Amino acid sequence: MDLIQSFSVDHTRIVPGIFLSRKDNIGDNTVTTYDIRLKRPNREPVIDVAAMHSLEHIIATYLRNDPDWKDEVIYWGPMGCLTGFYLILKGNRSPREIYDLVLRAFRSVSDAQEVPGAAPVNCGNYLMHNLGMAKWYAAEFADYLAANADSAAIFEYPRTERLVTDDGQHFFDS
Ligand SMILES: [Zn+2]
Repeated sequence: MDLIQSFSVDHTRIVPGIFLSRKDNIGDNTVTTYDIRLKRPNREPVIDVAAMHSLEHIIATYLRNDPDWKDEVIYWGPMGCLTGFYLILKGNRSPREIYDLVLRAFRSVSDAQEVPGAAPVNCGNYLMHNLGMAKWYAAEFADYLAANADSAAIFEYPRTERLVTDDGQHFFDS
């Protein structure tokens, strides 16, 4: 059984940032999935689930309305581990090439007066939102991205070597 690509990342050494998760070719087009990681997995508290939900709504709305990028956006959604988000874009860009977009998207949260789509007709759990906490997490992450713009660590995942038995069997922990 092959490891899927994301699990060959050493999750114990991940720092927040913008990372390449995978590239897929669909017909003649390339689609790229990025991990937008806000929290250090297993080393600090995860994002509050209601704030996560609000960030999902607010940033999805921002990305799908940005004049330069809206046609590139395929998907924005939360990771089940509550440490970050998945962003799927058309094309084959490096994490550095989407840095400005991600920074702007998180900065935009501070201007939100309400959570878009937080109504029973639009959302599966419309009462589970927390705009105040969403603004706090977004500002924390945006400030971090700005402070670390020149650091390779926010664009490249730490890789892990895996134990392999004599007969070639790989150990993995996912
Ligand atoms: Zn919702």
